[in-house]
Amino acid sequence: MNIQELDNKYVAHTYNRFPIQLVEGKGSLLRDENGKEYIDLSSGIAVNTFGAADREWQDAVSAQMSKLSHTSNLYYTQPCARLAQMLCERTGMKKVFFSNSGAEANECAIKAARKYAADKKGSDCFTVITLKNGFHGRTITTLAATGQEEFHKYFQPLTSGFVYAEPNDLEDLKSKIAENKVAAIMFEVVQGEGGVLPLKKEYLSGMAEIAAKEDILLIADEVQTGNGRCGMLYGYMNFGITPDIVTTAKGLGGGLPLGAVMFGEKTENVLTPGLHGSTFGGNPVCCAGAISILSRLTDELMLEVRKKSEYIFKSFEGAPGVKSVSGLGLMIGIECEKNASDVAMACMEKGVLVLTAHSKVRLLPALNIPMEELSKAIEIIKEVLTK
Ligand code: PLP
Repeated sequence: MNIQELDNKYVAHTYNRFPIQLVEGKGSLLRDENGKEYIDLSSGIAVNTFGAADREWQDAVSAQMSKLSHTSNLYYTQPCARLAQMLCERTGMKKVFFSNSGAEANECAIKAARKYAADKKGSDCFTVITLKNGFHGRTITTLAATGQEEFHKYFQPLTSGFVYAEPNDLEDLKSKIAENKVAAIMFEVVQGEGGVLPLKKEYLSGMAEIAAKEDILLIADEVQTGNGRCGMLYGYMNFGITPDIVTTAKGLGGGLPLGAVMFGEKTENVLTPGLHGSTFGGNPVCCAGAISILSRLTDELMLEVRKKSEYIFKSFEGAPGVKSVSGLGLMIGIECEKNASDVAMACMEKGVLVLTAHSKVRLLPALNIPMEELSKAIEIIKEVLTK
């Protein structure tokens, strides 16, 4: 059996994979088992911040690997403490809990929000408002947080205590707050899986104002939007708001599993010993890699991300076969006249890897993708969209 047959036979069929086997890569260029080259505009779904086989990240990971790869959270390790310090100093947040994935980071944030509300307002104050069309993960609780019914089918009963508000509708948010005892509002500043849709700035500032007045916590899910993806270190920084809790994962680990929950002033001491934990969370190898990633997410790089974003928008807006372009930074959705999955498949055949999100073609290139590769990939996509 070849690898595709072996995988189909033995790996649970939860993914519809593209029919290629990737074997190696460098930066934004990947190669399959036949030596065919692809320009990668997916970066492992916003994980490979600096592309494949990034030398600095590899060096940081291997150096730590050869010293100490795992202890447990019963002992102090340097990479975990240093990464937490860097995250807090760069965001103004106060404390960090490390997990292994985005869904787990969100689980932790939801637990912390419920504990905060129970301590301050009583244990019947537990509702978390999330937004329709949002996505927060695949566990039973984060599925409940995900405001898309199609994800709920087959898995009832989900965790209770979630209410879904219309995005960009402050009146709906206010009425949901009036009807429930609300602990927190959780949102993505750009709904990624939901179709790469940024929330409106006025909506987010209105939400922040209401939340502050009612002592409702704001949880920004920055699993996909974070770590430079939206042209600022974290996506919320584009909107002038300060969340009480920020969750992230994906690009922070740069290719190894790592999630983080950042707690602000109100929530820094909510979780106390014994209330939450993770065997692998804060693993020294993952944290050493993340330090290398975070230390290179500089203002200069963010400027470059914003410039590349502008270039992609300009290339597709009004182009033949394109209905609209949405997104922020290097998180871009293209509504095309053709079916998005067909476009992704045709692009793959022509040597460009893209993603889809609902009816859109979704681009999440590495933040350091060279302009030459980016423009070549754009030309190929445009050709696919019209032919
Ligand atoms: N939250 C958002 C906004 C995401 O985009 C994702 C994954 O796509 C998740 C949470 C879940 O992250 P993970 O797959 O690491 O559990």
